[in-house]
Amino acid sequence: MDLNFEKMNGLIPAIIQDNSTNKVLMLGFMNEEAYRKTVETGKVTFFSRTKNRLWTKGEESGNFLNVVSMKEDCDKDTLLIKANPAGPVCHTGTDTCWGEENKEDIMFLKELQDFIDKRHEEMPAGSYTTSLFESGINKMAQKVGEEAVETVIEACNGTDERLIYEGADLIYHIIVLLTSKGYRIEDLARELKERHSATWKKH
Ligand code: AMP
Ligand code: ZN
Ligand code: ZN
Ligand code: ZN
Repeated sequence: MDLNFEKMNGLIPAIIQDNSTNKVLMLGFMNEEAYRKTVETGKVTFFSRTKNRLWTKGEESGNFLNVVSMKEDCDKDTLLIKANPAGPVCHTGTDTCWGEENKEDIMFLKELQDFIDKRHEEMPAGSYTTSLFESGINKMAQKVGEEAVETVIEACNGTDERLIYEGADLIYHIIVLLTSKGYRIEDLARELKERHSATWKKH
C-alpha cells in the first residue's frame, strides 16, 4: 500500500469496522510506524496523540482488534480496516466508541420473538399483539395472508420502501402466529438450516 503520510502531516485516520457486523467500532490515527506494526502483528496499532507513543489497542485490556483486511481510500489518505474485536472496543466499556451495541440487525428478530413471547404470557391490555392472540387462530392466519398479499403488491407495483414495510409486517405476523402455536422463529430457522444441509449432501 502506498499511503500518503506526508500530505497528512504523518498521521492517517484509520476507520475500524467490525468484519462480521459491519459496525464502525472506533477511529484512530496511524503514523508510518504504527501502520507497519499493524501489518506485522495483525493487531491494530495506532499512534496515540495523548500518550505520544505507539498504542496497540488492547495492550492493557486484552481487547485487541485482530485485522482481517486493510484498504486505502481513493486518494490514499485514509484507511478502512476490517477487524474482529476480542472484546468491547471503547474504554468506557461499550462495544463501539459511539455507545452502540455491536450486533447485526438480524439478531433483533430473536429479541422481537422474546418480546412477543412475553406478550403471549402476560397478555397486557391495550397491546396490539395481545389483541391478535385474543382474536384466535383463524384471524391470525388471515393477517399473515393479508400481509403476504400486501408484500406481493409492493414487490410488483410498489416502492422498495413499501416492500420493506410490508415484508416486516409479514414477518411480525408470522412470529405471532407461530408463538400462538407454541413455536418460535428459531423453528423456521432450524427447518431452513436442515434443508440447506440436506441439499448440500445431495450435490
Ligand atoms: P487498551 O488499549 O484497550 O488496553 O486500553 C488502554 C488505554 O487506552 C485505556 O486505559 C484508555 O485510556 C485508552 N483507550 C482504550 N480504548 C480506547 C478507545 N476506544 N478510544 C480511546 N481511548 C481508548
Ligand atoms: Zn481520502
Ligand atoms: Zn471510546
Ligand atoms: Zn401491512
